Amino acid sequence: MTLEVVRTVADLRARVKAWRLEDLSVGLVPTMGGLHEGHLSLVRLALEKTDRAVVTIFVNPKQFGAGEDFDVYPRDLETDAQLLGGLGAHLLFAPSVAEVYAEDHAACVSVPGVGDILEGACRPGFFAGVATVVAKLLLQTLPDIAFFGEKDYQQLLVIRRMVKDLNIPVDIDSGPTLRCADGLALSSRNAYLSAEESAIAPVLHEVLAGIAENPSPGTAQGVDRLLKAGFSSVDYLEVRDAETLEPWTGAPRPARVLAAAWLGETRLIDNVAVKKAVSRQRSAS
Ligand code: AMP
Repeated sequence: MTLEVVRTVADLRARVKAWRLEDLSVGLVPTMGGLHEGHLSLVRLALEKTDRAVVTIFVNPKQFGAGEDFDVYPRDLETDAQLLGGLGAHLLFAPSVAEVYAEDHAACVSVPGVGDILEGACRPGFFAGVATVVAKLLLQTLPDIAFFGEKDYQQLLVIRRMVKDLNIPVDIDSGPTLRCADGLALSSRNAYLSAEESAIAPVLHEVLAGIAENPSPGTAQGVDRLLKAGFSSVDYLEVRDAETLEPWTGAPRPARVLAAAWLGETRLIDNVAVKKAVSRQRSAS
């Protein structure tokens, strides 16, 4: 079966409707393209768990702030389509901006609380942009399961909250972060890094992994290490409750270390699970 490419919501819905008539289940993997193994791992998950895998590629203008990288974000639909075809994905939905946002488009989904902190605080409007486009893609496709990466851990929590609060009838599933051998999380934005920056970038994961091994609410040493390694600035480096993203107090609950840091002009984000907090919880229960 070859990959079918559709550009309109009407064509997407017609294809999904036909599958429904055949009693086939549908998985959805929303992306912004510039596909790498991290994205492809989610497509594989969709192919394992559902009968038909739909991938969307849409660089969503509403989640980019003024001065951010919307114009230069990696776009190569042909290569992406080849990768998806090779994997056996069934449908690629690649709409234009006009198809997604009519000129008089006004509605917006916001997820206060978990959407306001960390990434939400650093990038005002970012999660409203993400939640709005993901809500639209979910409602346009109405898949059985939609797949998201832990690489964007806070985004995953925002989407779970939105789907629960708005009763969107879709299961949200997630896949682990895929990394280079040196630990750097795969990201479309890694293409921006110079050779020198690429050599520094893995320190972000080293620092996160170190804190995850031996967590404490204070992370000043980690920030120091990032700056000494050559990061230009650190937006945040935090140990947070893994479910609420409230500051972690050392309580025996699942926790997550999350960071965003700038390497020259490139902003990298990453996160890892805290092992000790989880094992303490296990031994306490
Ligand atoms: P993006 O194209 O960056 O919007 O990402 C699309 C989906 O791929 C999101 O659910 C991301 O969390 C996920 N993703 C991005 N990078 C990775 C990675 N390194 N490993 C696993 N999933 C990823």
